[in-house]
Amino acid sequence: MAKHIFVTGGVVSSLGKGLTSAAIGMLLERRGLRVRLQKFDPYLNVDPGTMNPYQHGEVYVLDDGAETDLDLGHYERFTNAPLSRECNYTTGKIYQAIIEKERRGEYLGKTVQVIPHVTDEIKAAIRQLATDDVDVVISEIGGTVGDIEGLPFLEAIRQFALDVGKQNCLYIHLTLVPYLKAAGEAKTKPTQHSVERLRQIGIQPDILICRTERPLGQEEAAKIALFCNVEPRAVIEERDKEFSIYEVPLSLVDHHLDELIVEKLHLRAKPLDISDWRQMLQRIIHPAHEVTIAVVGKYIRHHDAYKSVYEALDHAGIALNTRVVIRKVEAEEVEQEGADKVLSGIDGVLVPGGFGYRGLAGKIEAIRFARERQVPFLGICLGLQCAVIEFARNVVHLPDANSTEMDANCRHPVVCLLDEQSNITHLGGTMRLGSYPCVLVAGSKAHQAYGSLLVHERHRHRYEFNNQYRQQFAAHGMLVSGTSPDGRLVEVIELRDHPWFVAVQCHPEFQSKPTKAHPLFRALVQASLVKREQKKAEAGRARAAASAAAGA
Ligand code: GLN
Repeated sequence: MAKHIFVTGGVVSSLGKGLTSAAIGMLLERRGLRVRLQKFDPYLNVDPGTMNPYQHGEVYVLDDGAETDLDLGHYERFTNAPLSRECNYTTGKIYQAIIEKERRGEYLGKTVQVIPHVTDEIKAAIRQLATDDVDVVISEIGGTVGDIEGLPFLEAIRQFALDVGKQNCLYIHLTLVPYLKAAGEAKTKPTQHSVERLRQIGIQPDILICRTERPLGQEEAAKIALFCNVEPRAVIEERDKEFSIYEVPLSLVDHHLDELIVEKLHLRAKPLDISDWRQMLQRIIHPAHEVTIAVVGKYIRHHDAYKSVYEALDHAGIALNTRVVIRKVEAEEVEQEGADKVLSGIDGVLVPGGFGYRGLAGKIEAIRFARERQVPFLGICLGLQCAVIEFARNVVHLPDANSTEMDANCRHPVVCLLDEQSNITHLGGTMRLGSYPCVLVAGSKAHQAYGSLLVHERHRHRYEFNNQYRQQFAAHGMLVSGTSPDGRLVEVIELRDHPWFVAVQCHPEFQSKPTKAHPLFRALVQASLVKREQKKAEAGRARAAASAAAGA
């Protein structure tokens, strides 16, 4: 029978519950246990797919096409646990199911209520992951204890221990222990209050993970233990990380969290093996090289809007022993200041996915800069579409080329709506979503990067390259290097006359891991390293020529 871990959070949001849950999953996996992870989000949207990245950060897409919370990205990067749409529930999705049942008459005669109907639906969502082949289900409850909308989830996980036995459940609460400079000490009161709220609901946490800026003193830990009714050894410090989020599991191991979980849940586990992870961290901490890559987007100010893209760049850096400095560039700034100024000194350009008109001109300018200056470029989804528009306008000489997403009546719709999208009226969950196969052209840069002619990548789009322009583009030097197996949908384009200019309709960032960098990101960083060396050599030659001239 599977055991259950429930992760809740207190005091403030953004404490890193998702990361911590992912790290716990990873440690248990590394102890030979089969883990599943799941996130509950208390908001009313059925999924985050219709939300603006400023509201929510990145929308993370799974193989099955589910549009999910970005914490699922952490789960995938840290563990090998399979993820599906059953791994992310919102209040909206729970209520939708209940209301559909009510309309079918499944509750006939009854009043439908939060307790028991909503809580039953939540418990069913937890239970469905606890199949025979699973040892531990980790369920993370989004939001902060004390939020009104989170109450049904907390009530459900409280009831869950009664249903399956307390010995099969573990409650882990993530909290903040702030350090007050003026007082010169760490404060435990917010944690006490937060745990008090949990206990009022009937949940006694078994383990407290305390986010701190400074080491947690023994005295403070003992105080927290006493006031919160937990064992002193179950008060675990999780200090802010200096180099990387991938340090989190190691610091939890240093505080014996894996042993504590194994003991408290009576799990049969093998000794921990994370030597590869430790080696990977060494490469993060002591890189041999450095490159600067500009990410040109329109949600740059939100630090989670392109989360998986930033992570995938880091992963490529880890694989190549390189520190990837990410220059986050607001596309509108390129429009206003010009690419020469904003992109000076960079070694590579990446234009990520996105929607809508704002920032489009800046992205196109950045791509033009990359194309003309022979700077390595990776375009992702809208990034591909922008590359197509740029090429159409500046190389094929179709000045009014555009995407019909931006201008429905443009003369040259080089990017247009996918056929299957033309009759869609509802916007939620109706894009071309999830994993699709793609066939690559032998010898292309994409093929060289992947080392395979058939690849599977995740998608999230409504628009595509307009096939009517394929021949014209080819005649001007653009290669369609990847298509759907039937050849109809353009999935990858690249330039023949450029060191590394590749754009993809898919989102490769969702399949990159710190221990397994994605081939396209790796190839971009590799090409950027070459570009940097070339620039250094050119600068050296220029200096030598200048001093020779001065000498003469
Ligand atoms: N807006 C574009 C489309 O729908 C690109 C989407 C994306 O970049 N994810 O096709």
